[in-house]
Amino acid sequence: MNKEEFRRYGHEFIDWVADYFEQVEQYPVRSTVKPGDIKNVLPEKPPADGEPMEKIFNDFQEIIIPGITHWQHPGWFAYFPANNSPASVLAELLTAGLGAQCMIWETSPAAAELEEVVMRWLGRMIGLPAGMSGVIQDTASTATLCALLTAREKATGFEANRTGLSKPLCVYTSEEGHSSIDKAVKIAGYGIENLRHIPTDHNFALIPDKLEKAIQEDKSRRLVPACVVATLGTTSSAAVDPLAEIGGICRRHNLWFHVDGAYGGTAALLDEKRKMLEGAETFDSFVFNPHKWMLTNFDCSAYFVKDEELLIRTFEIHPEYLKTGRDAEVKNYRDWGIQLGRRFRALKLWFVIRSYGLKGLQEVVREHLRLAGLFKEWVEKDSRFELMAPVNFSLVCFRLKKEGASEGELARLNAALLEKVNASGRIFLTHTSLKGKYTIRMAIGQRTTTEENVREAWDLICKYTPAFYSEK
Ligand SMILES: *Cc1c(COP(=O)(O)O)cnc(C)c1O
Repeated sequence: MNKEEFRRYGHEFIDWVADYFEQVEQYPVRSTVKPGDIKNVLPEKPPADGEPMEKIFNDFQEIIIPGITHWQHPGWFAYFPANNSPASVLAELLTAGLGAQCMIWETSPAAAELEEVVMRWLGRMIGLPAGMSGVIQDTASTATLCALLTAREKATGFEANRTGLSKPLCVYTSEEGHSSIDKAVKIAGYGIENLRHIPTDHNFALIPDKLEKAIQEDKSRRLVPACVVATLGTTSSAAVDPLAEIGGICRRHNLWFHVDGAYGGTAALLDEKRKMLEGAETFDSFVFNPHKWMLTNFDCSAYFVKDEELLIRTFEIHPEYLKTGRDAEVKNYRDWGIQLGRRFRALKLWFVIRSYGLKGLQEVVREHLRLAGLFKEWVEKDSRFELMAPVNFSLVCFRLKKEGASEGELARLNAALLEKVNASGRIFLTHTSLKGKYTIRMAIGQRTTTEENVREAWDLICKYTPAFYSEK
């Protein structure tokens, strides 16, 4: 592609994205293609000769777009959101254009120093203790893996890094902890049998007494408790574990305390929600995802640690080909995580924070919380439905109820309702199971979602509901 073509298509693509932002509501939220539909129209072999951009772009629109599920649709109420924003998209364009690989300070000093500064801003914005240092990871899954690896090294005096694990170490999380914890426990060598899923109370929050008991039991069996992962906003119901109490237990037993706030952490931008982080002085590490609910393109996960030395000692490597004369004065983020090569992710975060300002971001989050409060009221006032969990953030868990119906029947009823509603193409919701009960999740948090969209969702749910009452 020559310069002129690059310029022309560059402008055209920005126009396309700007139109997409405006017109995304015209697409069905969830892609309607069937398995294989996309694969089957793609050629078996790659082209031997280069093809014109016009043809490639045409195929993007004809083949790829129908297979896209539209996360930026204002009717997005599935999973959790994964927002972008104009500022973030523009920064990603610049990042792609620079094509810098930011593994160490010298490979782009601005990337390293901007990351340090932006992460300090972010820690302050959500009210973390000033002493915590931040680093951008690709995902919360990776951040949690880093936490478990650091906890492993701390518990073994850095022996595991040298000789491997010589005795089992135990990890604790609630039965509502995210699957990334299980995955990290497997990868980090703890062994899944040494992960304890601590029971939760009626609000789906970890019960501290049960944690204490599990730790005691492991100690009496001569196992070594190493790490607790608590959650600020669980994936199924946005439950909040009692962090201050758990922090106290971790201190007493000298355990690593990691807090997974992948979704919920963003709410700490609001002063009125700040008390959620009670006990933050006891956190050894904390993660939340600006790529979920803080308008920053995937991937951007903010990982904070109390003691950066422990993190660096866990990961550092010193091959000759990466040594520079500046290493004593600067941060080399290759030693702050798993991979060597790093994207310049700080740029989009910087653009987003500057473009919205703290107040702008707070407004977005506050509005989503307000909309969730509204939706919750509608559910509560309608005797056909029941609320399934407290509404701590902008996630509402609910379902259709039916006199005398078994759990199996309720699951079928609600799954059928969910499918009908999603097939409308106007909105997309997903489900979970809470203590064995099928639950529909209404996760409000897409950047452009308005009260009108939330009302439409409720109207659609109500519209498709009566049919299910006549079924056996
Ligand atoms: C979404 C989520 C994760 C995983 O986030 P990734 O960034 O996709 O790895 C982890 N924990 C919780 C509580 C989540 O909601």
